[in-house]
Amino acid sequence: MSSTSTAAGASASTRSYHANPTWKSKKEAQQVDYPSKEAFQSVMDRIERLPGLVSPNEIDRLRSQLASVAEGNAFLLQTGDCAELFDYCNPEQIQAKLKLSLLMSLILIWGARKPVVRIGRIAGQYAKPRSKPTEIITKVDPATGETSKHEIISFRGDNINAFSPEPASGRIPDPERLLQAYFHSAATLNHIRSELASGLADLHAPRQWSFQHVQSSALQAEFESVVDSLTDALDFMKTIGADPSTFASSSVLNSVDYFISHEGLSLAYEEALTRLVRKPTTANPHAARNVHPSDVPDIKDDFERYDLSAHTIWLGDRTRQLDGAHVDFFSSIRNPVGIKVGPSMKPEELIQILDVLNPDVAIPASASSGRASGWSTPSGASNVVYGKEKGRVMVIIRLGAGKVASHLPPLLEAIAASNHKDSIILLCDPMHGNTQTSPYPPASSDPNAQPLKTRSFGDIISEILSFLQIISSDFPTLHLGGVHLELTGDKDVTECFGGSMRLEPKDLERGYKSHCDPRLNFEQSLDVAFLLSHYFRN
Ligand code: PEP
Ligand code: MN
Repeated sequence: MSSTSTAAGASASTRSYHANPTWKSKKEAQQVDYPSKEAFQSVMDRIERLPGLVSPNEIDRLRSQLASVAEGNAFLLQTGDCAELFDYCNPEQIQAKLKLSLLMSLILIWGARKPVVRIGRIAGQYAKPRSKPTEIITKVDPATGETSKHEIISFRGDNINAFSPEPASGRIPDPERLLQAYFHSAATLNHIRSELASGLADLHAPRQWSFQHVQSSALQAEFESVVDSLTDALDFMKTIGADPSTFASSSVLNSVDYFISHEGLSLAYEEALTRLVRKPTTANPHAARNVHPSDVPDIKDDFERYDLSAHTIWLGDRTRQLDGAHVDFFSSIRNPVGIKVGPSMKPEELIQILDVLNPDVAIPASASSGRASGWSTPSGASNVVYGKEKGRVMVIIRLGAGKVASHLPPLLEAIAASNHKDSIILLCDPMHGNTQTSPYPPASSDPNAQPLKTRSFGDIISEILSFLQIISSDFPTLHLGGVHLELTGDKDVTECFGGSMRLEPKDLERGYKSHCDPRLNFEQSLDVAFLLSHYFRN
């Protein structure tokens, strides 16, 4: 079987997904133990009846943009919090994240001269996998000053349990939180949509994208020069009669796409938001419609499963077992999917998982006339070839600066030798392999304070640069498709040290706000964008 693709870029597939999802019969890693199964089921029943958060058409749009990333014609920027909290659902924080993503992508477009596909870890990034189900906290008796140790359930994310260990019941999983997650996702997404529709992303006004509070004058000057070149280019277009402001309001220069994603950890929640969508046919190419799975007990070949909780979801490094429920669920949905790859992943295991997530599918030669990439033309064509859907899988590699040189080449060798090499998107996540404990004990007077988790900006940059160097010198058939970063648009966050602000480990406590992993702050994020931009420009 060859890895041929259609002329349209993305292969159209005649994939027929599992007639009934089989993930329920497999082992689900990181399962949550709810005190009442009935209460949990009743929440799932409720979510099943609610509308999807995104639409199948938007997912198809992302699929076709990811096909360009796989071909090397676009760059992917996936950014956001480690653990999104319900509390972050406010206009200030949502806009700050959106603006930072726009600024970073503008800087990248300027350097790489390629379109940037933006995906947020937002509007649903609530669930967190944990290495241990419980953790030990120290409590101090205010009267006597005596300390005692307590074992409590680990924080699993705002959609599972409360962060606060007080009252003691706060960490007990509550299914109502999944319903709250749905509504917080909906409100966050609604705000994103309304901001984009109101011209937040208008390329004519990048100076309004709040660059003012950047402290480093070097960064300020760099950004001014990017904006000046852009303004020149827009003026030039106007001079030659191609004024973008005369285009329809949907012009790419006046608005942009921004897609949402999260780790697909709670499979019951993902399933409750999965809908069957009828494949368009040649006779009626616009026939796609949502059908609830329970209305169609036997999924026919002319339906596909779309998970409408987000445009794309990813498999975590702890839930990517080949024979596990998560890989099975992910293989059953039409959405593009990500998979985190840490140092414990064996190259042959990665290829086996990729075979499940992106199997060879029959591509009728006439498929390129389909409505959108990935839609199939009816079977029966005699000239069928087999291939893989381009951009269906994002391999998000997170090894750590110290392990890239030893662990990346074997993974890339396996990919380059497989028939996934033309369809895969390789992303560098320089965050998750670089977590360390701050050398500074908490200075705070709070006796419950724990040592802080942090990341060195130098390690983050070193992992990205090593990745780029290895791929460009030894793997000419592969390329870096993009980066996956944990960051925040909030000002005054000090969770990672280093960068142009020259934060030091002793500064971390000043603005440490994360309830999970440490994030790049606004300025450190722009540092990364400029670094990549310069790399691509030179
Ligand atoms: C994350 O992305 O926040 C995460 C938990 O990542 P990983 O699965 O790579 O550890
Ligand atoms: Mn994280």
